[in-house]
Amino acid sequence: MGISNYDISSTVGTLVSQRLVRKICKKCAKKREFNEDEINLIKKLEDKYNVKFNLEGKYTYDAVGCKECNNSGYYDRIGIFEVLGLDDSIKELIVNGASTIEIRNAALQKDYKPLIVDGINKVLDGVTNLNELDRKLIIY
Ligand SMILES: [Zn+2]
Repeated sequence: MGISNYDISSTVGTLVSQRLVRKICKKCAKKREFNEDEINLIKKLEDKYNVKFNLEGKYTYDAVGCKECNNSGYYDRIGIFEVLGLDDSIKELIVNGASTIEIRNAALQKDYKPLIVDGINKVLDGVTNLNELDRKLIIY
């Protein structure tokens, strides 16, 4: 973009990223319990990102397809978000030309929760499902 690393770090305080995912069509969705693979995946993400997801009493929904959703099984979209606060240590990494991975790892030591965390919460809320998240974020 022609903006120096220093300019970014001195003027930007917070970075917000967003992806749009399709919402499951509630008219035709098939409700079921999470299977073992899905539970293992969610547990793996808990460890990786140091978060806790509450799976108790939660169900997931498979896309089916009906007239309402043009047989896609999905209807409408919703944003999933991540917020990265640029504190001094993160800014220093940017000024020094650190890689995205280095910046990400440093942020993970703090409060930063990546897109996938918000995505899983929306799966647990029954708004979307893991297939749709995987289509957007590649989670498996
Ligand atoms: Zn439908």
